[in-house]
Amino acid sequence: MVIDHRPTAAFPEHLRELAARFPLERSLREDPLSCVRAYRGDRRSSEIAGVFASTLAIGNTTAIRGAFARLVAMAGGDLSAWVDGLDRSAWRTSLGGFRHRWLRGDQMGYLGWRLHALYETYDSLEEPFLEGMASEGGGFAAGLDHLAHALRSQPGDRTRGPPGYDHLFPSPVDSARSPCKRLTLFVRWMARREYPDLGLWTRVSPADLRIPLDQHVYWIAYHLGLTQRKSKSWPAVEDVTESLRRIDPSDPVKYDFVLCHTGISGDCPKERDIAVCGPCSVRPDCLLWRGRRAS
Ligand code: SF4
Repeated sequence: MVIDHRPTAAFPEHLRELAARFPLERSLREDPLSCVRAYRGDRRSSEIAGVFASTLAIGNTTAIRGAFARLVAMAGGDLSAWVDGLDRSAWRTSLGGFRHRWLRGDQMGYLGWRLHALYETYDSLEEPFLEGMASEGGGFAAGLDHLAHALRSQPGDRTRGPPGYDHLFPSPVDSARSPCKRLTLFVRWMARREYPDLGLWTRVSPADLRIPLDQHVYWIAYHLGLTQRKSKSWPAVEDVTESLRRIDPSDPVKYDFVLCHTGISGDCPKERDIAVCGPCSVRPDCLLWRGRRAS
């Protein structure tokens, strides 16, 4: 059964209040973005750190940050220099027995090799993204598709990626089933101008960004009525982004960090618990409290 649930007319104010009260610095310390921000003085190093950190963004934030730190250590402490120094054979063994969930060292090594090759053509990964955006029928999805294909094994390249590698970079053009969270998150980090994002991509407008729809953002977005879809997918990404665009057309993913970390931090119990939900600014909009009073 489809539940037609929409947020209240006062939702924009409720969301602003949620963000105003949110302990941003506490959550930023936990977020993989903190790993990338360490490189913010240099665009290329930030992009390389961002691609790896977003690709590793599976599981809890402590494990992701730990995996990123291990990867940097195995790469000799300088990811950018490691990418520069890779050759056609070194990628396979360069990261030895690195493992994070189902991700393997050979896959991360091949990603380093693809980045090495891409930086021989482009100054920045913003360029392949923009090429996609500017293509026929373009837009954000086409930009993401172009970037995903650039990171995958290249047709005709005699050095192919290891098993499972290309699946790490889904595209919304190839299939609408995936929300393509990790690459969408990478683009948010690079292109959104406001803190805590880096704003290093100056030719991609924040107005064009899409929400990185992970399980936490999807749960709260669904319960706030920002999408009616029953599962994460690219159409759900478009729904949630469109709902948030009505609040701020110039920066529709402005509240992504807050929505995501409200779930990660446990600030939202994902069930009706008056002790936690009582002071929650978006409780009037929450499906779990529809038709219910707090007392
Ligand atoms: S009211 Fe409770 S369950 Fe709903 S979003 Fe707020 S904290 Fe989460």
